[in-house]
Amino acid sequence: MNFSKRSPFVKEIMFERIYPSKIILPMKMHYGVPAIPAVNVGDYVRIGQCVGVPEKGSFSVPVHSGISGKVSDISEIVLPNGIITPAVTIVNDMKRTRLDSVKPRSGFKISATETIGIIRAAGICGMGGEGIPTSAKLSRARTEAVKEFLVNCLQSEPYSTCDLVAITEYPDYVVLGSCACARAVGASKLVFLISENRKEQRKALANSIDKIKDDFKDLEFDIKLFRERFPQGYYRLVARALYGKNLSLGETLEKSCHAVLFNCSTMLACWEALSDNIPMMSRIVSVTGDASGGHNMLVPVGTPVSEILANAQDIKNGSDRIVWGNCLTGIEIRDPEHTPIVKTTSVISVIRRAEVPKTPCIHCGLCSECCPMNLSPNTIYEMLNQGLRQKASEEGARECIACGSCSYVCPAGINLTTSIASFAGEGRIIEVNSLLDNSSAGDRMFEDYVASYVGETSLLEDYSDGNENISKKSPDSITLPFERDKEV
Ligand code: SF4
Ligand code: SF4
Repeated sequence: MNFSKRSPFVKEIMFERIYPSKIILPMKMHYGVPAIPAVNVGDYVRIGQCVGVPEKGSFSVPVHSGISGKVSDISEIVLPNGIITPAVTIVNDMKRTRLDSVKPRSGFKISATETIGIIRAAGICGMGGEGIPTSAKLSRARTEAVKEFLVNCLQSEPYSTCDLVAITEYPDYVVLGSCACARAVGASKLVFLISENRKEQRKALANSIDKIKDDFKDLEFDIKLFRERFPQGYYRLVARALYGKNLSLGETLEKSCHAVLFNCSTMLACWEALSDNIPMMSRIVSVTGDASGGHNMLVPVGTPVSEILANAQDIKNGSDRIVWGNCLTGIEIRDPEHTPIVKTTSVISVIRRAEVPKTPCIHCGLCSECCPMNLSPNTIYEMLNQGLRQKASEEGARECIACGSCSYVCPAGINLTTSIASFAGEGRIIEVNSLLDNSSAGDRMFEDYVASYVGETSLLEDYSDGNENISKKSPDSITLPFERDKEV
């Protein structure tokens, strides 16, 4: 496959699907410190422009605009998950003017360090979960010398299909992003995890692997099939399924299994940044639920939920519940006009309002039966209600992965998940914080670029300027097949 023959700007269509009248860009859409607005009210911004930069030395990623237009407001907003963050509002001029730098790169060699640096400069964070900066996770995997690079294609939340659409529509991008990142961390095996029922996506991945495997002879490829069930894909469940290990809280896949796990849409975003110089400014969002026929839309990050819903013609009933996230773990929102989708919003669920009569626990045992971590949610819930936190901990409460299944099945309408998951979440913060301790060459290089950031320039543009010199010096060069006839 000759990648130089691809259309000159393959993602142009991305900006066409939903082109909102404005975007509200929170400076904190990732795990870490908020970025700092790098524009002022009245400034004109273009597609791909960096409008929020991380403070030097902070654990953060930049924020970019997916539309062109004028900055109309910079103020604090509260996201549905309670995060208070500065946000930059941009009013669309509908001219779709993009930065000159947002275009495919020509053939070049980049080092593993630069790969990680570009991914950080592109503002990429995990698109399937807590939004951990991808560069930090890659750096940690590299430090831990992981052997297996796992790509999570197991989207299992009810109704959500955005990851599967990403695979069907852009399989080469998903596979190439995975190859580039696997090389950057020094893994020798690349494994795609996917449900056995997803035949179309399995075929798409297999075809793409066939096309590029000769360019990545140092990597062994595999596709591992999983049963279709919810939840799947959480790293501790994957550790159990693939390596037979029950990771305790605080244990990582990297240390315990010599593997690292990334979401497939994140890999797509990485290849967009590496190949086409596109920062993370849009994403595929599922708009779905029992009150919607099911849509997948390419949406600029920051698009208000109301504008997304306006494009889903089958959503008519104003009394339906609008949920920011999936129907099991998402958060109901009341003000879709002022609530944007963020980098981690994979789904907007539209659910018929059904009142479940609330009764005391009838000890049916359904919550225990469905819990993927083999917990007794009703017992833990009672303990937490009585303030018995130590006992709840001994009962395994910290193992809860917030899947929402127990609340969903409970015939008594008890919201078990909220109290158990928030108790477990206190522990999870410690786990994610371990990433902060891993300073890396990629991160340091990125900070230098941030320090030299000036005015209206895209961080990605700056990065590509210095690219060639750095790669000549770098001892850890890898070659990516951007232009097969030139470099591979
Ligand atoms: S939310 Fe937690 S306790 Fe409930 S089923 Fe999922 S893992 Fe188990
Ligand atoms: S599912 Fe609900 S009613 Fe049944 S045991 Fe669990 S908490 Fe009690």
